Amino acid sequence: MAAGIWAAGIVGWLIIRWPYRRRARRIETVTDNRSQKEKALLGLTIIGLVVIPGLHLATGVFSFANIPFSPFAASLGLVAMVGFLILFHLSHKHLARNWSVSLEIRKDHELVDTGIYSKIRHPMYTSFWLWGISQFLLLPNWIAGLSGLISVAMLYYGRVEAEEEMMRQQFGAEYDAYCERTYRLLPKIF
Ligand code: SAH
Repeated sequence: MAAGIWAAGIVGWLIIRWPYRRRARRIETVTDNRSQKEKALLGLTIIGLVVIPGLHLATGVFSFANIPFSPFAASLGLVAMVGFLILFHLSHKHLARNWSVSLEIRKDHELVDTGIYSKIRHPMYTSFWLWGISQFLLLPNWIAGLSGLISVAMLYYGRVEAEEEMMRQQFGAEYDAYCERTYRLLPKIF
């Protein structure tokens, strides 16, 4: 059951992203900051959030690191997973054509500061943190459960400064003012 919820989250992620990914391919990129480090971080994220837990569920390879199942933890995992999908959908909806999987500036890129972006600068990364938390709550295993959170932490800390620097170079004082009135991940907190 809990593993099924985890798998449904992956399907939800793919369904929400699919149309934006297709559209992004047709939009010209004017500044491309995709470094080798960026590519490695994206690969690691997929490994931690999809490959390691998927492999464990299919083969039981990490069973030696199992943690006792708790229905309460699994229920919280469901809540976190739903939160992830809602926030991920809202981020894509508001970023619209300005989104890219990596650090890029698109032709006619606009600084989005409406909707969820009026409160926080990185709602999509907040959603990824929720995804990682839900994986740990739904898959009680020190390796297959925690691999998601570890890879999200690596992506977030490996990228957030570079992303904000890229945005600052593109939008200058407008971005500084936007940073002044917003938080990174959680409104009024962080
Ligand atoms: N960090 C954001 C966006 C992730 S997608 C979030 O977590 O919601 C990454 C791309 O989005 C970056 O390459 C950048 O081009 C674009 N981007 C990030 N913040 C943006 C904003 N406020 N307005 C427009 N584009 C933004």
